[in-house]
Amino acid sequence: MVVKQSICLLGATGSIGDSTLDIISQHPDKFSLFAVAANTNVKKMAEICRTFLPKVAVMGGVEARDELATLCSELPIQFDWGEEAMCSIASSSEVDQVMAAIMGFAGLKPTLSAIRAKKRILLANKESLVTAGRLFMDEVAKHQVTLMPIDSEHNAIFQCLPQDNFGFQKSHVSKLLLTASGGPFREWSLEDMKKVTPAEACNHPNWSMGQKISIDSASLMNKGLELIEACWLFDMIPEDIEVVVHPQSIVHSMVSYEDGSVIAQMGVPDMKVPIAYGMSWPERITTKVPQLNLMDVAKLDFSAPDLERFPNLKLAADAWHLGGTAMAHLNAANEIAVEAFLNKQIGFLDIATVNKQVLEQLPATAIVDLEGVFEGDKMARELAKRIILVGNNL
Ligand code: NAD
Ligand code: MG
Repeated sequence: MVVKQSICLLGATGSIGDSTLDIISQHPDKFSLFAVAANTNVKKMAEICRTFLPKVAVMGGVEARDELATLCSELPIQFDWGEEAMCSIASSSEVDQVMAAIMGFAGLKPTLSAIRAKKRILLANKESLVTAGRLFMDEVAKHQVTLMPIDSEHNAIFQCLPQDNFGFQKSHVSKLLLTASGGPFREWSLEDMKKVTPAEACNHPNWSMGQKISIDSASLMNKGLELIEACWLFDMIPEDIEVVVHPQSIVHSMVSYEDGSVIAQMGVPDMKVPIAYGMSWPERITTKVPQLNLMDVAKLDFSAPDLERFPNLKLAADAWHLGGTAMAHLNAANEIAVEAFLNKQIGFLDIATVNKQVLEQLPATAIVDLEGVFEGDKMARELAKRIILVGNNL
């Protein structure tokens, strides 16, 4: 990197936010923090503001903004709130790279705003790509944006594919092998999975992540969303992608070539590695993540996922084939179902049941504009809430 890169960090108070701030602080000669955004965690945002002194800090609501402004009144920072302000920092002329790490569908508009302003996109917020799909990728192509996958699996695939400037070349690729840890319930019986608590579901064996993605990892919805994410990013269909359960999370994904070669990307499971690669590509920078010691790991296991205990994975492939708004429907249903599970309104296995019913009951329509995605998202949320309220078949 010749020129120091100015970063806008969306989702600054989250798990990806933490790791991104760590990389920025390790390389003050390479990166500066222009702006940060988060939803409600004022206390953490105040700490970030004191440590990094961004020019702008945006909170989800006006009250959180006011509270932050009071806590940090001595700092020369502009405080703002709401989605419009998030779109504005993501597209500011003072920004080079935007880390899209807001959780869920809420990240879509700010991410699109960054794409339209031709920023380098560091995409952690998979839900925005899953829901807007073709529209998202069309904008990326139209604005000739560098889209760096931050999701560890997709970052791994990116590293294993031949690169020509930015164009991924998929020539001679026979399939992608998307690894999955299998989550905390990999070996649990269906009977035991019925009684899972939110605390158990949040306790991921290998990765420390936000609550929602931890639940998604336990239900394999995360792998379903990643399957769709990989289809859009690498121009594939679900049949080109094999999900492989690999409980050690050392192989982050692989690309299988026509000649029989399989190229894997490996490392200690730590999001700082894909984040740093996204920020420094095509160069590499240090991360302070320990080097992989294969003697310590000793053994790498691989197996097929169990679709009976983890139906979300199949639902994701179904949604892809239904096309149009189906993927937004599935994502919205899942966001509502996960919230209901966290609030102990439904059981763990009900998450997939709600997702399935929404996908079956709400007809998918073709996506012609962003309004269509928002309409699909809204209808699916309403239907999911009704299904949970009525509680039939749950
Ligand atoms: P998290 O829950 O730890 O943090 C989420 C962040 O988004 C917080 O800063 C929160 O304030 C912000 N946020 C939530 N709702 C918002 C809203 N309505 N408006 C503005 N900001 C909002 O989540 P995380 O684990 O950091 O994950 C963030 C994203 O990255 C998710 O899309 C997740 O799927 C993806 N991701 C995370 C990991 C990981 O290891 N944590 C790995 C791959 C992908
Ligand atoms: Mg992942």
